[in-house]
Amino acid sequence: MTLPRPSRAYDVLVIGGGAAGSATAWQLASLGHRVCLLERFEPGHRRGSSHGRSRLLRLAYPDPLYVGMAVEALRMWDQLESETGADLITTVGAVDGGRTDRLDRAAAALTAEGAAFERLTEAEAAGRWPQLRLPGDVLFHPGASRVDPDATLPALQRQAERFGCDIRHSTPVTALEVDADRARAHTPSGTFTAPVAVVTVGPWTSRLLDHVVKLPELTVTQEQVFHLPPRAPSDIWPAFSFQGEDGGIVYGMPTADEGVKVAEHLGGREVTPDGRDGVVDADARRRVLGFAAEHLPGVEPTVSSETTCLYTNTADEDFLLDRIGPLVIGTACSGHGFKFTPLLGRMLADLAVGESGPNPRFRLGTTAV
Ligand SMILES: Cc1cc2nc3c(=O)[nH]c(=O)nc-3n(C[C@H](O)[C@H](O)[C@H](O)COP(=O)(O)OP(=O)(O)OC[C@H]3O[C@@H](n4cnc5c(N)ncnc54)[C@H](O)[C@@H]3O)c2cc1C
Repeated sequence: MTLPRPSRAYDVLVIGGGAAGSATAWQLASLGHRVCLLERFEPGHRRGSSHGRSRLLRLAYPDPLYVGMAVEALRMWDQLESETGADLITTVGAVDGGRTDRLDRAAAALTAEGAAFERLTEAEAAGRWPQLRLPGDVLFHPGASRVDPDATLPALQRQAERFGCDIRHSTPVTALEVDADRARAHTPSGTFTAPVAVVTVGPWTSRLLDHVVKLPELTVTQEQVFHLPPRAPSDIWPAFSFQGEDGGIVYGMPTADEGVKVAEHLGGREVTPDGRDGVVDADARRRVLGFAAEHLPGVEPTVSSETTCLYTNTADEDFLLDRIGPLVIGTACSGHGFKFTPLLGRMLADLAVGESGPNPRFRLGTTAV
């Protein structure tokens, strides 16, 4: 197939059409900027991080920065739903259990941001959600929601196109060059140029930017998620997360039509994004079934479906959202970026064309090479 060659002048190139890139294209195009979104694969591909029917939007971070961002993102999800008419977000509430120091910090951060929550004893929680068995006190926040990646990306891209964005799927950027005031993205269908390029290539960030910018270390892990059938289909499940004394986190949520999703946070092995095999790790399946046997009496002890997905990880789990010359880098990573999708679009659009500078927490901490 011959792809159409670049023919227009653009204000901004967005490279990578996952959650972060699609939201950035939406935000920029809606502000009237001439945007081209370059995506390596076909629509609906499953090779990155933004596919599937469920991601959890939790507000209960032990860190006020992320709680404040989640509150703002929740507002923007509602706005995105009403702007696109798409069904993207469902309120489910979330129960957090496990290490009390983490629960205390999350409670303090939720209080600081004015987000509603309750602290319940183990007996109160067992009475309210007999399908869960979490030892110790829990924290419940009713605003937690499930968001749907498979509906979100097309909705964002349709909306970006309505505002004039030129979206090119199956258009890999094979090399990126930058000078003081211009970025050039080379692809098999020609070279695209603009005064600014926003790079949102998720797990491929190190690979594409290797010779362009010195990045902090990013590791890519292949994570796996499992779906277990509920014993009583009429049970109303909240989302849940549990951190054991060893620091490991298992989380889950009710899905629209696949039962109860259960997964380990950061339970996967290190891979390269093009070398990953997509094979679910049998040990991870065993650990998740073991967790379910101990803590989820409301599910059948069997896996009805399973899949893999890539995390891009920074050492401290903070995002990278920064600008260096004509390059904006956006990696909302470490397995907790999806919930912020519309807000990330706004933050990256601001870095590309707005007045605001990067949040110091999200800087690369390095200079261009
Ligand atoms: C199993 C799992 C569970 C998760 N659960 C949650 C959760 O509950 N809550 C939450 O908030 N977050 C969660 N996340 C994290 C969230 O899904 C990610 O943070 C988010 O999807 C990252 O999106 P992205 O756009 O940065 O990356 P991606 O979705 O990977 O998008 C990058 C895009 O760039 C494209 N690309 C790459 N190279 C090039 C190139 N050279 N040229 C053009 N295009 C290119 C890729 O094809 C891809 O489409 C989870 C992630 C996983 C894997």
